[in-house]
Amino acid sequence: MGAVNLHHHDSKANNAVLSVLDDTRLFRQLAYINGKWVAGNKDTAVVNPADDKVLGYVTDLKKSQIDNAVNAANRAFPAWRALSAEQRAERLMAWNDLILENKEDLSKLMVLEQGKTLNEARGEIDYGASFIRWFAEEARRAYGETMPSHIPNAQLATLREPIGVAALITPWNFPNAMITRKAAAALAIGCTVIVKPANETPFSALALAELAERAGIPAGVFNMVTGDPEMISAVLCNADAVKALSFTGSTRVGKILLEQCASTVKKCSMELGGNAPFIVLPDMDIKEAAKAAVDAKFQTSGQDCLAANRIFVPRDKYAEFTDAFANEMQSLRVGNGMNATTDIGPLINRKAVEKAQMLVDDALEKGATMIAGNQKKASGKNFFHPVMLTNVTPDMAVYREENFCPVAGVLPYDNLDDLLIAANDTEYGLAAYVYGHDIRDIWKLMRGLEFGMVSVNSVKMTGHPIPFGGMKQSGLGREGSRHGFDEYSEIKYYCLGGLDTASGC
Ligand code: NAD
Repeated sequence: MGAVNLHHHDSKANNAVLSVLDDTRLFRQLAYINGKWVAGNKDTAVVNPADDKVLGYVTDLKKSQIDNAVNAANRAFPAWRALSAEQRAERLMAWNDLILENKEDLSKLMVLEQGKTLNEARGEIDYGASFIRWFAEEARRAYGETMPSHIPNAQLATLREPIGVAALITPWNFPNAMITRKAAAALAIGCTVIVKPANETPFSALALAELAERAGIPAGVFNMVTGDPEMISAVLCNADAVKALSFTGSTRVGKILLEQCASTVKKCSMELGGNAPFIVLPDMDIKEAAKAAVDAKFQTSGQDCLAANRIFVPRDKYAEFTDAFANEMQSLRVGNGMNATTDIGPLINRKAVEKAQMLVDDALEKGATMIAGNQKKASGKNFFHPVMLTNVTPDMAVYREENFCPVAGVLPYDNLDDLLIAANDTEYGLAAYVYGHDIRDIWKLMRGLEFGMVSVNSVKMTGHPIPFGGMKQSGLGREGSRHGFDEYSEIKYYCLGGLDTASGC
């Protein structure tokens, strides 16, 4: 335990949080604007989903304070942009190092407010930091291009310029990495940012702001605002000075923000919901497939945009698969994410549990059969034990909607043509899984699936080098990889005319 060093506003800090942190200064309850920690009108309680106990309070900013954040980010932009990519990378790498040095504290803070297991949280901190390092390095290679001229006596070329102030709005299911995946790209290329984290998980976000300050990221370059989501989003989306919006969250809210951004024709990138098919090919070992499907379904308690939503199995292997899946599911232990033995933590809140129950009730009413997993009681009303629904049909909500809970729907299929039609029968298009060996079958699916990311024989697919993003109503744009800068930069073309190219110059 480190020394307790509280800010004036942190008098409401809860011992349940402070007692698990080595560095209690990571527990921040104020917003961060222009290098200062600021309080708003009132405070809102943040609870631990495992027991619904209050962890602390986050400040609700006033509209004028969101305007201040926009102005501060706008004022800080010219100087930040003027630094060399190396100079910006130095600050970003200092941030990266601090995050990794404080990995245990950040992980515990995340478990307390988000509910996921400590191992999942540790994985997220590594994953989140990996984007900072990636973009710090990649910014030095943000090349333009030259092109042979079609205009006499001219040279033609492009360069990449940071777009300006970027607003970043993020969800609660990955409270660290969804911020770093955006902020690292934006900051590295020379933008300044205003982050609005989810109200359910502000402390993981504010700890990142605390570490950004310690890393020497200048005042106004990295700002974090908390409070009423609708008011804050409206200010950010309508502000002229904000040039880009990057949102990760539900398709429903994404559409609202896209409409709001039309007023200023902002560059928008959207990482929205998913409805991933998990496809077992006829030549796949069924036990292996069932194990992978359980991993792909129940990671982050099913509250994952990449979670397998609809599991398709050849009809003649269907019974064998559902037996194997049920068997795997039995070993999952539901409990508090802080316990080392827990596989599935609580859902984020009571509403999420009600949604899970609705999916089950709706499917049972329409003819599905339920097979329950390990029912050993976990205490607390936000826990939901994993279940599998068999004989799922396309009219069921579990098939149509993003599940976002530990409910698995399994369906039989007869041939690959029908399967492709069924797998694509969704407005979403984020990720798809294919398990099998026949290269012709795999290739047919890979080309036919209308999903931005197709993972063959691997549950793990995401990471800093890959372009993460969806087709259809799963989003716009890509995050990570060398394409991650596109959302925060403009390509400027220039034509240098009137040159004496005849002499070779
Ligand atoms: P959400 O859309 O409810 O909230 C996301 C953010 O928007 C939060 O910061 C929230 O405070 C804010 N918000 C909520 N309502 C708003 C409104 N009316 N106006 C303006 N802002 C509002 O999503 P969530 O429940 O936090 O997260 C779960 C969703 O995120 C799922 O659909 C999941 O698939 C998606 N997600 C997508 C990815 C991806 O990379 N594609 C990654 C993680 C999560």
